[in-house]
Amino acid sequence: MIEMRRKCDVLVVGAGPGGSTVARYASQAGADVLLIEKRQEVGSPVRCGEGISAEWIEKYDIHPDPSWTRNKVDGARVFSPNGTMFTVNAENAGDEVGYVIERDAFDRMLAERAVRAGAELKLKTAALGIVKKDGKVVGVKAECMGERFDIEAPIVVGADGYESQVGRWAGIDTTMDPKDVQSCLQYRMVGLELTGNFVDFYLGSKVVPGGYIWSFPKGKDEANVGIGLQVSMVKEPGDAKKYLDKFIAAHPNIAKGQTVEMVAGAVSVCAPIDRTVADGVMLVGDAARQIDPLTGGGIANSVKAGKVAGEVAAQAIEAKDYSAGFFQRYEKGWRAIFENKLYRDYMAKEKLLTLSDETLDKLVGALAEGQLTKVSTLSVLQAIKRKYPELVKEFESML
Ligand SMILES: Cc1cc2nc3c(=O)[nH]c(=O)nc-3n(C[C@H](O)[C@H](O)[C@H](O)COP(=O)(O)OP(=O)(O)OC[C@H]3O[C@@H](n4cnc5c(N)ncnc54)[C@H](O)[C@@H]3O)c2cc1C
Repeated sequence: MIEMRRKCDVLVVGAGPGGSTVARYASQAGADVLLIEKRQEVGSPVRCGEGISAEWIEKYDIHPDPSWTRNKVDGARVFSPNGTMFTVNAENAGDEVGYVIERDAFDRMLAERAVRAGAELKLKTAALGIVKKDGKVVGVKAECMGERFDIEAPIVVGADGYESQVGRWAGIDTTMDPKDVQSCLQYRMVGLELTGNFVDFYLGSKVVPGGYIWSFPKGKDEANVGIGLQVSMVKEPGDAKKYLDKFIAAHPNIAKGQTVEMVAGAVSVCAPIDRTVADGVMLVGDAARQIDPLTGGGIANSVKAGKVAGEVAAQAIEAKDYSAGFFQRYEKGWRAIFENKLYRDYMAKEKLLTLSDETLDKLVGALAEGQLTKVSTLSVLQAIKRKYPELVKEFESML
């Protein structure tokens, strides 16, 4: 067995899309990077609906490849409680339409990019805590195959996902209100009779209170069918399964299929948190609560933030400055890219949760008639404002 290195410039905890992207960009800029992943295989098991939009990937030098782009979809459809449908397609969303991916292959591709850029990847290696000296972060306590040891590093990047501990260890508040957490359950189903090549979203209190159901097609007769339910609305532990099974039973074209894989997990749907850095530490991706609160999608933002964190980490090594002050470059950098969208989508999500089924029917109906030329949260809210100004009064200033 090759002895593991116990010292590096930048220690990245977690080889999800966020961590691998940090490792790639920091290595490319010349930093000595160690990427540790507690699982034995990057990307597995998959805990994801596997939907991404196409618009951002090439900007991050990620090129669609059949090894991970399972299905290029024709767009998205939103169904209101009475079945009214609003379609987002290439005509009104431009590049916004996207892919249903093989998430495990996608994550492996990103980790391989990091390794090819010079990062060292260590599997089955978990961070157990942060090591501090004179109040300063100087590394992490780690464990690999039963052996415990310290890894010295002046910069620790917490890309350790929804259940992140690095933030807590570093004194960064990443706690959330239960209303800002969605508990998710998903079935990968085969043998379905899909009605189009669209990612579908179903809304309404009877479908699921405080959340939505999705169906993301992976092929002609195969889809990820899942539910996200606001944790504060869960009355009993099996609620998510109950709503999902009820929905499937009511849709014979889906009920025809069978479940071959189940996935459970949680996503944050909170407003941006106040701080994602501390002396010696940066948080990236789900660990930094960077998931889009309206869609629950977090892959794109973890890559976007990962690039900024990777570049800033390399600059910090060069400047020999690992302070929270220096890391403002990261704090400001990621916020400049997508913080406004996080806020806007958070407000939209909060509003959506207050709407009755009748109002949702009217809204989706108005959007379906509205002939939007470009679909984004902003354009949708503006269209709603034209027809039902009272519904968007609270966030007038953002429109
Ligand atoms: C059911 C479900 C469906 C979803 N669907 C979508 C979707 O369709 N589209 C979308 O864009 N997003 C989706 N998301 C969200 C998306 O999966 C996350 O936003 C994304 O994975 C964030 O990437 P990340 O790198 O921040 O974290 P992760 O991908 O969670 O990676 C964190 C990594 O850190 C490792 N790790 C954790 N702790 C330690 C430790 N102590 N030491 C070492 N390693 C550690 C983990 O093993 C993991 O590999 C979904 C989430 C769920 C739960």
